Amino acid sequence: MASTGKQTTDEPETAVETARRQLERAAAHLDVDPGVIARLKHPDQVHRVSVPLKRDDGDTEIFTGYRAQHDSVRGPFKGGMRYHPGVTEEECIGLSMWMTWKCAVMDLPFGGAKGGIVVNPKELSNEEKERLTRRFAEELRDFIGPMRDIPAPDMGTDAQAMAWFMDAYSMQEGETQPGVVTGKPPVIGGSYGREESPGRSVAIIAREACEYYDYPLEDTTVAIQGFGSVGANAALSLHEWGANVVAVSDVNGAIYDEDGLDIDRIPTHEEEPEAVTTFDGHEPIPNEELLELDVDVLIPAAIGNVLTEANARDVQADIIVEGANGPTTTTADEIFEKRDIHVIPDILANAGGVTVSYFEWLQDINRRQWSLERVNEELESEMLNAWDSVRAEVEERGVTWRDAAYIVGLSRIADAHKARGLWP
Ligand code: GLU
Repeated sequence: MASTGKQTTDEPETAVETARRQLERAAAHLDVDPGVIARLKHPDQVHRVSVPLKRDDGDTEIFTGYRAQHDSVRGPFKGGMRYHPGVTEEECIGLSMWMTWKCAVMDLPFGGAKGGIVVNPKELSNEEKERLTRRFAEELRDFIGPMRDIPAPDMGTDAQAMAWFMDAYSMQEGETQPGVVTGKPPVIGGSYGREESPGRSVAIIAREACEYYDYPLEDTTVAIQGFGSVGANAALSLHEWGANVVAVSDVNGAIYDEDGLDIDRIPTHEEEPEAVTTFDGHEPIPNEELLELDVDVLIPAAIGNVLTEANARDVQADIIVEGANGPTTTTADEIFEKRDIHVIPDILANAGGVTVSYFEWLQDINRRQWSLERVNEELESEMLNAWDSVRAEVEERGVTWRDAAYIVGLSRIADAHKARGLWP
């Protein structure tokens, strides 16, 4: 199909705009008190803090940090913290809304939050990262806690950052509080399998979607944008389960082989950061081209707003499984719906991360660690339960997978608001 999309401008929406539009779409299918919908369009609280950092050269620099807490009707606020130069208050609010729906779709006893610092972590030494993280924990100390708001890793943060964060919080509280963050190293109360879990859930949902639409995994081609924690783990699992992963990428570009890539041999971000295009024997292609490859399944697993009005008509995949948070704009979503491309949304597909965070929180409360086998078994069963609930809405109402996931999440949240009421 010829594309006119590239000439038009598709103002990239802010995450909060996208999140509100998606909420309205889902609300139209449900008989929910409009007052509850109005409340859900706004976060409960947004904390903005200045985080001073003594640089290694002795200078002091001030960074801005946020923590948006959207809704806690079903339990403590929950969600990641990102270190990225593009972090904004609006983005944190939008992402915190997605966390509320994500936790509800998975039926976890959590609400939604998201935070971050406007910083490029690549420009910080390890020591600077530690000092920044500890000070951020201190700035947020009054607003977080194992029963109040539980941060986790996100873009630019990892298990080590969670360890510093937990240590700083615990030192000030005077007792070790492992449950204040999830995604920690297993030796201090982290869960086995947490690191791999978002990518693993993307793979599980992609596998279920392939089965549902009759694509035998061994004959299915998959392109994955992003080879960080989500993309690499999704690629590894799908490759292991027999799918043909034909393209992967990082910030430097993509590699493509129509016969399938030897995923095990490509260095992950942890092994060697951003080394995908140096992998021998493959001509790199631009990242945008990866999104338009003629594959069965496309997994955007890098950043938000990559599938837009400008390229949605050129996407050739039949199924899109969202690994990143918010990779598809509302306009692109509408184009995919018209073109009969099935988009399995982030709030279902990558929800394995927060699900294993929930397992970690339970392990911390009980001071008892689960085996990796148990984590993966329970993750599989939670993902299949959520998939079934969403699938039932798709079939019953004839709606998109995104609307179905929102309907599942929103009805649980709205019921909880109804039961608890508005006070005073
Ligand atoms: N940052 C992850 C997400 O976007 C995980 C959040 C968590 O585990 O709390 O889902």
